[in-house]
Amino acid sequence: MAEDHSALIAKLTDAIGAAYVLTDPTDMAGRLVEDRGLYTGTAIAILRPGSTEEVAACVRLCAAAGVAIVPQGGNTGLVGGGVANGGVILTTDRMNRIRNVDATNATLTVDAGCILANIQQAADDAGALFPLSLASEGSCQIGGNLSTNAGGTAVLRYGNMRDLVLGLEVVLPDGRVLNDLNGLRKNNTGYDLRNLFIGAEGTLGIITAAVLKLFPKPVTRATALVACDGPQAALALYTRMRAQNADTLSTFEYVERMALQMVLDHAHGCTDPMAEVHPAYCLIELTSANAADTLDARMETALEAAFEAGEIHDAVIGASEAQKDALWALREHLSESQKPEGASIKHDVSVPVSRVADFITTAKAACLAHMPDLRPCPFGHFGDGNLHFNLSRPVDMDDATFLAEYPTFNRIVHDIVHQMDGSISAEHGIGQVKRAELRRYKDPVALELMQQLKSAIDPANIMNPGKVL
Ligand SMILES: Cc1cc2nc3c(=O)[nH]c(=O)nc-3n(C[C@H](O)[C@H](O)[C@H](O)COP(=O)(O)OP(=O)(O)OC[C@H]3O[C@@H](n4cnc5c(N)ncnc54)[C@H](O)[C@@H]3O)c2cc1C
Repeated sequence: MAEDHSALIAKLTDAIGAAYVLTDPTDMAGRLVEDRGLYTGTAIAILRPGSTEEVAACVRLCAAAGVAIVPQGGNTGLVGGGVANGGVILTTDRMNRIRNVDATNATLTVDAGCILANIQQAADDAGALFPLSLASEGSCQIGGNLSTNAGGTAVLRYGNMRDLVLGLEVVLPDGRVLNDLNGLRKNNTGYDLRNLFIGAEGTLGIITAAVLKLFPKPVTRATALVACDGPQAALALYTRMRAQNADTLSTFEYVERMALQMVLDHAHGCTDPMAEVHPAYCLIELTSANAADTLDARMETALEAAFEAGEIHDAVIGASEAQKDALWALREHLSESQKPEGASIKHDVSVPVSRVADFITTAKAACLAHMPDLRPCPFGHFGDGNLHFNLSRPVDMDDATFLAEYPTFNRIVHDIVHQMDGSISAEHGIGQVKRAELRRYKDPVALELMQQLKSAIDPANIMNPGKVL
C-alpha cells in the first residue's frame, strides 16, 4: 500500500505556500522526465521554494519524515541525475535573483536558480564576461551547472565551472545553511569545502547561491574552420596554435567528416564552406579584450605555417560576424544532427591532451573491429582532451539490435580511456547512467573516501539517493 504523506505535504504547504507544492500528476509530469526521455521517475511532490530559508525549511521537514530530496535546476542533465525515484523534487526555479554585481572585485553573486543565459547577460550588462557556455544555456541553471561541474566550449581558456566560482551557499541534508558565500581570491583557512559540492550532483546538499568570477569582455575574435587528415594532424595543429596564441586561443574543437556530413544533411541552413571533402576538421577561435589585437592576421600566420608543415589542407577564416556564426553553427548542430541517423551510443570521455589523437585512432579501430559497418562520429573539445565519442548505428541495422551492444562498446571504449589515464565522464557526470562504470574504474581509495564523505554529511542518505555512488 502506498505510504501516506499527507501530513508532510501539509507541513510543506505551511512552510512555502500551497501554490508551490505541486502534487497534481499533470503539474508534475514535465519534471519527472529527463530531457532526452531516457528516464521517467516518480515523486510525491514538486517543491518550489522561493528563498534559502524556505529551502532549509523543506529540507528539515523532509529529513524529519525520512523522505528523499532530489534537487533539480533546468532538468537538462544528461545522466539521469535529476530524475526522482520517489521522494520529493526540489526545484530552484523561483530563486532567480542576481544578488550583487561587484565590478571592482569582478564578481557576480547569484541565486542558484538563475538561468545561465541570464547570468551571461547580467555580466555583459556590467561590461564583463561570464564565460561558461553550453548548448543548453537557455534553460540550464547555475545550481545545475555547479552540481555537474559543467564544461562547454570555453574551458580551454577559462576552465570549467569549478574554476569560475569563488564561494557557495549550501543547504545541508539536516537543514543547516553553509555560508561560504565569499568573493575571496585568497582564503587559506582549512579544508576546501566549496569544491565538495561542485560536481556532487546534489548528493551532499542543495546549492542555493554562488559568487561567480567575471572576466574582461572579448571585443574581437577570429574564427576558422580548418581541414586536416585526422587526429594526429589536429594534435600537431593544436600544439602550434597553443604555442603561438596561448592567451587568445579560446576554442579548439574537432569533428570528423561523418559527423559533419550529418550536419550538412540534416541541419537547416548549414552548408560546407569548402569545395572539397576532407577527413576531419577543427574549429578554432581566438578572442581578445583588446580591440587593437589583430587576431585575423595572427590566425592567418599560424595557418600558413601549418600549411607549409603539411598539417592542414584547407582553411576558411570567417570574414564577417555572420560567417563566423555560420562556422559555429556547424559545431552547434553536431549532436542533434546525429538523431535522424538512428540510434547512437555515446561516450563523454577525456584523456590527457597529449593522448587525445591516440585515443581517437585506437578507440575507432577497436570499435570498427567489433562492428565493421559502424559509423563513428567522434567530435568535441579536443583542446580539453574531452571527446564526445559517439557511435551511430550501421545504416541497415535496427536501433534495438544496435543499442543491445551498448555494454560491449562501453567496455571497449572505457577500457581504452582507462589505459590512457583518462576519465569515463568528462563533463556530464555520473548520475544513474554511469554508477556501475564509476565503481569499475575509479580508484578504490577515492571511492571509499567519497562514500565516507557522503555518510558524514548525509548519514540518512536523503539527498539524491541512488545517484553517483
Ligand atoms: C543540449 C545540451 C547540451 C549540453 N551541453 C553540455 C556541455 O557542453 N557541457 C556540459 O558540461 N554539459 C552539457 N550538458 C549537460 C549539462 O550538465 C547541463 O546542461 C547543465 O549543466 C545542468 O544544469 P541544469 O540546471 O539543467 O541541472 P539539472 O539537470 O536540473 O540537474 C543536474 C544535476 O545537478 C543536481 N542539481 C541541480 N540543481 C542543483 C542545486 N541547486 N543544488 C544541488 N544539486 C543540484 C541534480 O540533482 C542533478 O543531479 C548539455 C545538456 C543539453 C541538454
